[in-house]
Amino acid sequence: MNLLDLTPDEAESAVSQWIADRGDPAYRARQVFRRLWQRPVAAWCDTTDLPRTLVQALEQDLPLQRPTLETLQESVDGTVKFLWRLDENTAVESVLIPDRKRRTLCVSSQAGCAYGCVFCATGAMGFQRHLLPWEITAQVRELALDPRFGAPTHVVFMGMGEPLHNWTAVDRALTILNHERGMGIGARRITVSTIGIVPNLRRLAARSEQFKVALSLHAPTSHRRGRLMPVDRTYPLAEVLDAMRAFRKRVTFEYVMIKEMNDSEADARDLAQIARDAGALVNLLPLHPGGAQGLEPSSNDGIKQFAGLLRSLGAQVTIRRSRGLDISGACGQLRVDTTLRNDVESK
Ligand code: SF4
Repeated sequence: MNLLDLTPDEAESAVSQWIADRGDPAYRARQVFRRLWQRPVAAWCDTTDLPRTLVQALEQDLPLQRPTLETLQESVDGTVKFLWRLDENTAVESVLIPDRKRRTLCVSSQAGCAYGCVFCATGAMGFQRHLLPWEITAQVRELALDPRFGAPTHVVFMGMGEPLHNWTAVDRALTILNHERGMGIGARRITVSTIGIVPNLRRLAARSEQFKVALSLHAPTSHRRGRLMPVDRTYPLAEVLDAMRAFRKRVTFEYVMIKEMNDSEADARDLAQIARDAGALVNLLPLHPGGAQGLEPSSNDGIKQFAGLLRSLGAQVTIRRSRGLDISGACGQLRVDTTLRNDVESK
């Protein structure tokens, strides 16, 4: 059994049962359980409060699964990129973005991606496989184990893969990350970024916690979005926007600025209208330099003008600056800018 693949409630019962079957006292179950996420250990042998025979039995029956850190790259601006090896054929990235007291970790939910958005490095890889719940949460747990970094304060599902395409695992991973006896990260500090897989968007909205949601929008009409994001053929923009209404808190529209693809005045007018209607915050992101072939980022001045027009039309807008450019810090999802806080211009 892999305890780290279970929800905290399931893991607590499983540990209690295992301890009871061994005939050990019940308080041992609490000691063991705490070591999964609340006070995590890399291996059972790192615990100092358990008898040696119990440690040996844990190593044998309930070993703690971990990814291997294959590469770590640190940017001059403090952004850190991790490459985790999960098995012989699978490696995924996470990016840690420190910003004063906030440490945001961008996690991957799939190896590769099936959706082929034209501006995205992960999309160009094609789909490899879904990650398991523990493989998603391990990206957070590993940081908690490493005194150089410590547990992140915020988590965003903006790494490799489309999280709502891997709903079963992401649903469970959200519980593990948020649960008070899991990683204990507040729901408002966890953001799911999606291109809008409508049935699972509705499932996410139906959860009682209020996780934050960011829609990868990137074009304000179905016709223009379909040129960038093939998903529009399956889930047209109107259906996605309708599903977004089920979220009680303000949502974010992510909008990567691509020269002559989605940065015209008409785009700004259409975008302002849907953002106003949805009460959404628009985040403008410069396309990562050297990103997708044949696409160029909008100019800085162009982005500022676009933002100004959106504001004049009543939309709420931020522009983000890139972080970790020297380490290709923008992993997976957009190959643009995974920066979440460093707005150079916000109102
Ligand atoms: S942007 Fe997201 S959904 Fe689109 S190809 Fe990239 S990882 Fe997949």
